[in-house]
Amino acid sequence: MPSLKPYINLKIQRCAVDTNARIKTSVLSNQNNKLNASTLYAAVYGHPIRHSASPAMQNAGIAEQRLNWRYLAFDVLPEQLDEALNGAKAMRYVGLNLTVPHKLLALNWVDIVDPAAREWGAVNTIRFEGQMEDERWIPVGQADDPTHFKQIRSIGFNTDADAILRSIDEDLGLPLKGRTCILLGAGGAGRVAALKLASTGIKRLHLINRTQSKAKAVARDIQDKFPEVETSLEYPLKGTPVDLMLNATSLGLKADDPLPLNLESIDLKNVSHAYDMIYQPSQTPFLRKAEQAGCRTANGLGMLLYQGTAALEIWTGQIAPTSTMRKALHEHVYGKLSKH
Ligand code: NAP
Repeated sequence: MPSLKPYINLKIQRCAVDTNARIKTSVLSNQNNKLNASTLYAAVYGHPIRHSASPAMQNAGIAEQRLNWRYLAFDVLPEQLDEALNGAKAMRYVGLNLTVPHKLLALNWVDIVDPAAREWGAVNTIRFEGQMEDERWIPVGQADDPTHFKQIRSIGFNTDADAILRSIDEDLGLPLKGRTCILLGAGGAGRVAALKLASTGIKRLHLINRTQSKAKAVARDIQDKFPEVETSLEYPLKGTPVDLMLNATSLGLKADDPLPLNLESIDLKNVSHAYDMIYQPSQTPFLRKAEQAGCRTANGLGMLLYQGTAALEIWTGQIAPTSTMRKALHEHVYGKLSKH
């Protein structure tokens, strides 16, 4: 069992992202991008992990920024997460990403929990920081020489939650304030999406989930935190205009999955925007139906991209090369020749 550390209620100052900031010369010195004894590491831990697109995306960003870093992927069993995290800390990794099933477990392991990670109850990004002789803490990825640190600490962040909103904003071009939304699914991702949507000042949220008790619990959370948002566990009345319908169920991942919505309860012609968190396949039957009905649509690749760019920014303190990372992600997920 991971030890339960008390949360240190510290507002971690994210390295201010400064376009003019320069990464330390020792990190940039390896211009030909060859592995050497100064190479620093970041990694993603998950189980399973072989499907992960993060190494392709992050290594493209790292190469573009001419960092002497590598981003790896490891299959880590939940019962060995503690050991694997301690190993990365001892080896002065720059940071880690965590995916299923480690996001909740990591919350108890990190030394300090960033407020966003605490709010969403999950850590998907860890930054390691080292203490200097003069007591200052510096992110490992931004140090001249990480071998000089007196000790290392870990900070847990969550970049998933903001990534949903950034993707809806940039990929659908939809400002959310005052909108009526339908959210399909109330699992881990659905809960975070519901709270994030509510935090933007949407007017009404219809929460639809197979297991109604889960949707009810999410609705209760929203009523506690954002009482001005009207919540419902039913579809809107027929003919009501809906600004956004978001699929956060896993229906659509498999070719023979049923639709995640009931077409007798909602006419997609009344929906203007549709978002599916699934990005593989690039167009789920839900998105196809929505597109046919005239909706503007986007899949979840943007969400994956923006959680990754935010993680890289947390480690480097620099703006991430989003277009390079997007291209690498596209090529990895859909192949070089795909138009998607
Ligand atoms: P999860 O916690 O396991 O939740 C799964 C959700 O799907 C629940 O709402 C569940 O309903 C519903 N569901 C599953 N099978 C169903 C069925 N046969 N009929 C009706 N509903 C069904 O998973 P999650 O982590 O929230 O992920 C949800 C989806 O988001 C997945 O497709 C995942 O790939 C995607 N996702 C994408 C990103 C990204 O970066 N793009 C990130 C995270 C997640 P019940 O509550 O009734 O079981």
